[in-house]
Amino acid sequence: MKQTVAHSAMTERTTIFLTGPQKMLVDNEWIESTFGETFTTVNPANGNLLAKVPLADERDVNHAVTVARKAFNTVWKEGIRPAERADLLWKLATLLERDLQTLMELETLDNGKPLDKAKYDVLGAIAHLKYYAGWATKIEGTTIPTDQNKLVYTKKEPLGVVGLIVPWNFPLMIAMWKLAPALACGNCCILKPAEQTPLTALYLGKLIVEAGFPAGVVNILTGPGLPTGQAISQHKDIDKISFTGSTAVGKKIMKTAAKSNLKKVSLELGGKSPNVIFEDADLETLFKSLPWSSFYNTGQECTLGSRIYVQESIFEKSVEFLKEKAVNMTIGNGLENPDLGPMVSIEQLNRVLDYIAIGKNEGVELVCGGNRLDGKLTEGYFLAPTIFSTQNEDVTILKEEIFGPVVVVSKFKDFDEVIKKANNTDYGLAAAVWTKDLSKAHRFANAVDAGTVWINGYDLFDAAVPFGGFKQSGNGKEMGKSAIDLYTKEKAVWTVL
Ligand code: NAP
Ligand code: MG
Repeated sequence: MKQTVAHSAMTERTTIFLTGPQKMLVDNEWIESTFGETFTTVNPANGNLLAKVPLADERDVNHAVTVARKAFNTVWKEGIRPAERADLLWKLATLLERDLQTLMELETLDNGKPLDKAKYDVLGAIAHLKYYAGWATKIEGTTIPTDQNKLVYTKKEPLGVVGLIVPWNFPLMIAMWKLAPALACGNCCILKPAEQTPLTALYLGKLIVEAGFPAGVVNILTGPGLPTGQAISQHKDIDKISFTGSTAVGKKIMKTAAKSNLKKVSLELGGKSPNVIFEDADLETLFKSLPWSSFYNTGQECTLGSRIYVQESIFEKSVEFLKEKAVNMTIGNGLENPDLGPMVSIEQLNRVLDYIAIGKNEGVELVCGGNRLDGKLTEGYFLAPTIFSTQNEDVTILKEEIFGPVVVVSKFKDFDEVIKKANNTDYGLAAAVWTKDLSKAHRFANAVDAGTVWINGYDLFDAAVPFGGFKQSGNGKEMGKSAIDLYTKEKAVWTVL
């Protein structure tokens, strides 16, 4: 396998990081795995080797949990004031700002996404750090009136040691959706990035040490779901798992958590979100959004509008528009800033190609795309943006999450029909509605069973706004004030006066 060499778009700092040996962070020390095992991470734009990374197993997890527990008991829970935790989070944010370009480049190399999209991710991570730096000093309890001779108050205490398991589609940003609130609340963390994209987490480790976090507060272990992720989720001295990934793995983690020590679990899982377009939509705004709400991040985003429902009078016009955009999107190496980069891995590419084959076999009309790209892109895992069209609600590609640049368009007659179709799914992550009639839009928001609803927009996020799915899209809300509940436990204290 060829090693990725410097590219003209890469800064020296990135090249230096990639040439050094990659190690894991435990107790603020850079270590190999106990038995020296490694795995490789590749650049999906060309299949080249990026780095060899330690493969952590149960022994490494045990070691990390021991030091995290010690750090929790000695320095992090009470040895440090909340204002000092806030300072550390803010300092870390400034280090991410300083190394923005390197983090963008590493994310692009490891995941494949275009550089300017990687920039949104790093800026999102910084925004989360700053937002939760503000929270560290504001995690308050209450006093509760009961009767005259009692004083009752509540406290919100950190959980202890938390395991944070993240996916490959937004590696740094999703890690920060978890790390920032967990640390603000006073927990010690074991972070496991996805095996396809470990590099920004390891670089983040360097910045965590530089920011001055005490040893053992953040530990970063690399390795696949089996054995690393499983060893974390079954560990008896971990108090909580916060997981983002597929619904299938989320179910396994819940089971493992229950079997081990009944640790708390919060889950951000898959989606099959309906993007509903009424004939009275502002088409100019809609058309700016539609290619991105369909294909952003090469479709590897849990919230994307993979089921597009268009009211019948504007159906042909909308599909024609989307097709025109899809066939003209620029696709290539993320370092050259195309519209779309490659799929993250050959496995993911093949999984999506399998779904495309299933769609065709079930007789769904292919409007465009459906093929791996060749020519100068042959070596990378590139896939053409793909549109299917159907009126059959029972086809597999309308039911299962594909997690690639594949959307299915269908038409509808009226409000009642489209609500029924929008809710005809096991998922409930997000939904969008396009109409100038705000009364109708809010009736839609009331009726749709999804954790986030966008009206006349798509994929709007802010660190202050709770995000999380209904039904099989997960449980618990990340972001905003809600994430404080995910990383604290409430204690009631009774005093007889
Ligand atoms: P995944 O296969 O479920 O993996 C997610 C993480 O779990 C990875 O770190 C993975 O490790 C680890 N893992 C796998 N098996 C495990 C096990 N038995 N025990 C503990 N950990 C285990 O998901 P993915 O393919 O990375 O990501 C795509 C999925 O994530 C999609 O379904 C998508 O919808 C969902 N997602 C949801 C959200 C959301 O906020 N709702 C956001 C992003 C993605 P390795 O990969 O290293 O093996
Ligand atoms: Mg990679």
